[in-house]
Amino acid sequence: MARLPYVNSRLQGYQSTIFAEMSALAVRTGAINLGQGFPDTDGPTEVLEAAVAAIRSGTANQYPPGIGIAELRHAVARHQGRFWGMEVDPDSEVLITAGASEALAASILALTEVGDDVLTFEPWYDLYGAVISMAGAVRKVVTLRPPDYGFDPDELAAAVTPRTRLLVLNSPHNPTGKVFSRAELEAIASVAVERDLIVVTDEVYEHLTFDGEHIPIATLPGMADRTVTISSGGKTFAVTGWKIGWVCARPELVAAVRTAKQWLTYVSGGPFQHAIAVGLDLGDDYFKAQADELRAKRDRLSAGLCSTGLEVFEPSGTYFITADIRSIGHDDGVEFCWNLPERIGVAAVPNVVMYDNVDEGRHLVRFAFCKQHDVLDEAITRLRTLT
Ligand code: PMP
Ligand code: GLN
Repeated sequence: MARLPYVNSRLQGYQSTIFAEMSALAVRTGAINLGQGFPDTDGPTEVLEAAVAAIRSGTANQYPPGIGIAELRHAVARHQGRFWGMEVDPDSEVLITAGASEALAASILALTEVGDDVLTFEPWYDLYGAVISMAGAVRKVVTLRPPDYGFDPDELAAAVTPRTRLLVLNSPHNPTGKVFSRAELEAIASVAVERDLIVVTDEVYEHLTFDGEHIPIATLPGMADRTVTISSGGKTFAVTGWKIGWVCARPELVAAVRTAKQWLTYVSGGPFQHAIAVGLDLGDDYFKAQADELRAKRDRLSAGLCSTGLEVFEPSGTYFITADIRSIGHDDGVEFCWNLPERIGVAAVPNVVMYDNVDEGRHLVRFAFCKQHDVLDEAITRLRTLT
């Protein structure tokens, strides 16, 4: 029997991403795509124009420096200070990456040994699972449960083993839309300090919050030295295809992450790095307008989903809403999402693919609301025909 196609054992089970699969299904069926999270409008003109200008300048199209262009590193450091009160040295404490994805991959690859345990909350963003496995590490999870997606601090403490080196946190959280509260972050920080863990925190939705305040865990006592803070420009500036991300951490941690990063992409996105630097310096009004607009879209889709009879767990951030399909007589999210485009012309994502304990997520489905109002309205009209 032929040995191809082959993928190594660490990648078994991670052959495809559900977000890409659902987008492909939406394209095939002409469905409204509320599956993969990407906006259907462009980001701010200043940022788009800055990318065009950088390409045309003729000086930004070759390899940027390995750690990222100085302009962007300085803009990231200013941004962390302006919004979160963090003091970050742009030369030794910032690393520019190919999106948050590469920052996460490089951090996990650089900071774990084969056989180490990596702790995270479930549901977990799919990339964490794949990269933890590629690193030869072992995922351990603590479940976040609706309606508020809280967790039990004792369960968290009990999930730490002598082999746990990293805790991967995501707030605001995909897919639940949860924004971890200060008390919850303090509980996580206290476990991290007590058990000497490094926290890798994915804050790509840092500006997309509606209720609740985003608090970077690195700002909590005892955390600055043990936290790798990750974000990117994709969500904040509605340019998910640009893939410009960053890591902020103490110099030793940045050096470790850079060691892995340089062998992944080496560098990427020269002209886009210039443009994201422009974005990060936009006035507070831009960031506020962005969140306000998304809040209105959340309210619209949330009300629309409720009107179909779905039980909805209102998100405080991100651009996703989770609903429990048992409320409309279904219980298998995978089957529901595979059939939905054919049935009514809407695509969504089954949350269960982001769970280890599948019974916790079998009946949960995620809908993205980062779409124009009339698109959301049409999706709601179609969803109403379900019941
Ligand atoms: N983390 C989370 C929680 C995400 O939802 C995404 C999705 N885009 C990423 C990381 C990846 O970000 P980027 O596109 O900047 O690589
Ligand atoms: N982060 C996006 C989502 O959760 C998808 C990005 C991807 O497809 N990898 O929908």
